[in-house]
Amino acid sequence: MKNYLTASISESAVRHNIAILRGLIGNDVKLCPVVKDDCFGHGMDILFPVLAELTDGFAVAAPMEALELRSKGYHGFILCFLSAYFDDFKVQDELVWQEITQTVMSNSALASIEASAKRVGKTARVHLKVDSGMGRLGVPAKQAPDLIAAIRDSEYVELSGIYTHFATADERDRTATENQLELFKTILPEQGSLTIHAANSAATLDWPETHFDMVRMGIAIYGCHPSDQLHNRVDLKPCMSVKAKLIAVKHMREGSRSGYGLAHEYKRDSRVGIVPIGYGDGYFRSLSGQAVVRINGRDAPVCGRVSMDQMTVDVTDIPDVKVGDDVEVISSDPSAPNCVENLARLAGTIPYEITCHLGHNMRHRLVD
Ligand SMILES: *Cc1c(COP(=O)(O)O)cnc(C)c1O
Repeated sequence: MKNYLTASISESAVRHNIAILRGLIGNDVKLCPVVKDDCFGHGMDILFPVLAELTDGFAVAAPMEALELRSKGYHGFILCFLSAYFDDFKVQDELVWQEITQTVMSNSALASIEASAKRVGKTARVHLKVDSGMGRLGVPAKQAPDLIAAIRDSEYVELSGIYTHFATADERDRTATENQLELFKTILPEQGSLTIHAANSAATLDWPETHFDMVRMGIAIYGCHPSDQLHNRVDLKPCMSVKAKLIAVKHMREGSRSGYGLAHEYKRDSRVGIVPIGYGDGYFRSLSGQAVVRINGRDAPVCGRVSMDQMTVDVTDIPDVKVGDDVEVISSDPSAPNCVENLARLAGTIPYEITCHLGHNMRHRLVD
């Protein structure tokens, strides 16, 4: 972890996003933030208290993420998307013991949870995941009724919810999502104390008919739009900004070069700043020669190839630049050229990948 790199996470931005999203789903629908991969790189340790106060539970990918939430003293609803695999009985038992809601999508998963519940001497609560067309995890819709019946027959396992996941809710073409939604509805039992859920951020923003009893939102809570198609639906505020400091400033002659491959040639006498962040810290190498950082409120283009732990930026046009100056690597201003969404565009990826990668190697700080 590099103590000279700081990801500042804005509490007021997260509160703003949740307020807006609550307005969208209304009072009768629960809001379950998806906090996998350390809150998409934003930092679980700092965001946990804020999210625990404002939401109705948590969803995680891995069992250990669920157990970590319990170890923070959280007693509420936690849904785990993935499972304890490969006969990892210890983790499996811990999930049941700590009352984590597990996902069931096959008879063998049901059997393994059932065995665990027997060992632990507690009823295991599960949600059934249905593959309605994404072609990833989930019981095929056709087999869902049988699996629902099998769970209901089990003495040790209690079915408390049913869910599915959309593949294209962020795209303009609505056909695939409509098909998934229709298929999902056909397998839902009539009477209901079950929590039914389907919507990720994109579906929450764009498909009110997918809200059911609860929405599972990740990226929108952190203030990014799931895709360009969904811009301007709501006024989300990105909550992450990343800062470093200049560790060196040097003069480069016209015609000289810098970085691996000597890929960048200076077309004029230039001043260059060295920033101690690189692809090892999640600043993508594909941003070489494309992105800008901001110093003293001005753009400084990333020149030359991004290295593992440092990169060079052209500061010729920024007056009075000196060692120790703040470098804004990521801006939380959604109209800035170095905002997460724009960097994702330049790197040919999605905002999720940018924040996840940036999360691992730096300090996280909760700011107003
Ligand atoms: C990651 C994930 C989500 C959250 O998706 P966003 O697009 O970030 O809202 C919701 N549901 C499941 C099953 C997921 O894996």
